[in-house]
Amino acid sequence: MESFDGTRPIGGRSATLEPFQVIAKPAGAICNLGCEYCFYLSKESLYPGGRFRMSEGVLDAYLRQMIRSHNGRKVAIAYQGGEPTLMGLDFFRRAVALAERYRQPGQQIEHVLQTNGTLLTKEWCRFLKSHDFLVGLSVDGPRDLHDAFRRDKRGGPTFTKVMRGMRHLQDSGVRFNILCTVNAANADSPVEVYRFFRDSCGACFIQFIPIVEKRLLAADCSHGEQSVRSVTPGKWGQFLIAVFDEWLHGDVGRVFVQMFETALASWMGMPPTMCVFAEVCGRGVALEHNGDVYSCDHFVDCDHLLGNVGAIDLADLVSSPSQRSFGEAKRRALPRCCLICDVRFACNGECPKNRFARTQDGETGLNYLCAGYKAFFHHIDAPMRLMATLVNSGRQAREIMALFASAQRNEPCPCGSGQKAKRCHGR
Ligand code: SF4
Ligand code: SF4
Ligand code: SF4
Repeated sequence: MESFDGTRPIGGRSATLEPFQVIAKPAGAICNLGCEYCFYLSKESLYPGGRFRMSEGVLDAYLRQMIRSHNGRKVAIAYQGGEPTLMGLDFFRRAVALAERYRQPGQQIEHVLQTNGTLLTKEWCRFLKSHDFLVGLSVDGPRDLHDAFRRDKRGGPTFTKVMRGMRHLQDSGVRFNILCTVNAANADSPVEVYRFFRDSCGACFIQFIPIVEKRLLAADCSHGEQSVRSVTPGKWGQFLIAVFDEWLHGDVGRVFVQMFETALASWMGMPPTMCVFAEVCGRGVALEHNGDVYSCDHFVDCDHLLGNVGAIDLADLVSSPSQRSFGEAKRRALPRCCLICDVRFACNGECPKNRFARTQDGETGLNYLCAGYKAFFHHIDAPMRLMATLVNSGRQAREIMALFASAQRNEPCPCGSGQKAKRCHGR
C-alpha cells in the first residue's frame, strides 16, 4: 500500500514482476470527436460529475510505480483516450520530466501516444520529436471511408484535420503508426485502404482493428448480435486476406502490418505479440484519469475495477488474484470447437469481448469473428510456413517475394500448397 506521495520504498514484489502494459487515459473517456462506433464515450457515465483530468498526484503515482516495477528494464509509457492531447502540452512536459526523474540508470523509456491527430500542431510535434514519442494515429482510410464514421461532435467530417496533424508529424520526423478500424464502411476496400496508408501516408507500421459492436441478447453476456457499423466475420477475413496478398508480393520487410508480424511469430512457435491472440489476458490494464485501474481497456466497468493506484501499487493490482482469474478465463472459457481448431495456436479464440456467438452445436462463447479468422489463418498457412523456415534458417522473410516473383504460372506455387501458382499466390 502507498499514497500518492510515495512512501513505499523501492523493492519488494513490484520490482520483480514480469513486464506488463498500462494504457493511461489522462482525460478519461473525454474526446473532441464523436466517432459513431466509439465505445469510450459511453464510459463517461462511470464518473458522473467528474472533471476527467488526471491530477499531478495520479500521474506521479502511475509513472513511479510503472517505471519502478520494471526494475531497470525497458518500459513503455502509453497515453490514450478519449483524446489525450486535450490535456495540453504542459501535462505531457510534466509527464516526461517525472518519467526522467524515476528512470533508473540505463533504463530505456518509450513514450507512446495514441491520438486522433486533429489537435496536433507544429509545437506539439516538435515536443513529440524531441522526446522520441511513438505516435499511433487513428485513420480509417481515404477521405470518404474515413469520414463515414469518424465524425466530430456536430457530425462533421474529420479527415482534413487528421491529415493536417499527420503532415505535422511527418514534417517534424515523429515516428508514427497508423491504427485503422475495419468497419462496415471500409471493409469492402482492403487494397484501397492499405495502398492509401502505404503510398499516400508513407506509413511503415499499420494496425487493423475490427469494429465489433454488440447488443447483448443474454443477461450473462454470453451471446448477442452485432451493430450495422460492425464488420461481418466474412468481410473481416476477406479484408485481411486481400491486404496480406498485396503485402506478400511487395512489402514484406518494408511495411509492418501488426497482424502479419504476430502471425509469423505464432508460426515460428513464439508467443504472439498481440494480446488478442495470446492464450491468456491480464498483462495490459487500463488506468483512468482518477487512478482507477481496470482489467483491460475493453473491460472498463464496475465488475472489472481492480483498485486505485493511490491505494494499491500497480504491480500488485496486475498480479492480484482477480486479475489473474480474469486473464485465465480467456483460456478456460474456450468452446470445444476452439479446443480442437487447427489454427488455435495463432488465434486462441481472439478477444473475449467478441465471444458472443454460438457454435454449430449451440455452445455459447464462440468468437463472433471466428469464420473470418479461420479463413485468414488457413489462407496464410503455407506462406507463413515458408517465411518461418526462411527466418529459422538465418535468412530473411522478405526473400519470399523473390520466390513468388520467379514462380511460373503453371508450376507449383512456391508457398508449398501443392496448387499451381496461378491458382494460389501467383494469381
Ligand atoms: S477519436 Fe477515438 S476516443 Fe475520440 S470519439 Fe473517435 S474513437 Fe472515440
Ligand atoms: S480482453 Fe481482449 S483486449 Fe483485453 S487483454 Fe484480453 S484479449 Fe486483450
Ligand atoms: S478460428 Fe474460430 S474456432 Fe479456431 S480458435 Fe479462432 S475462434 Fe476458435
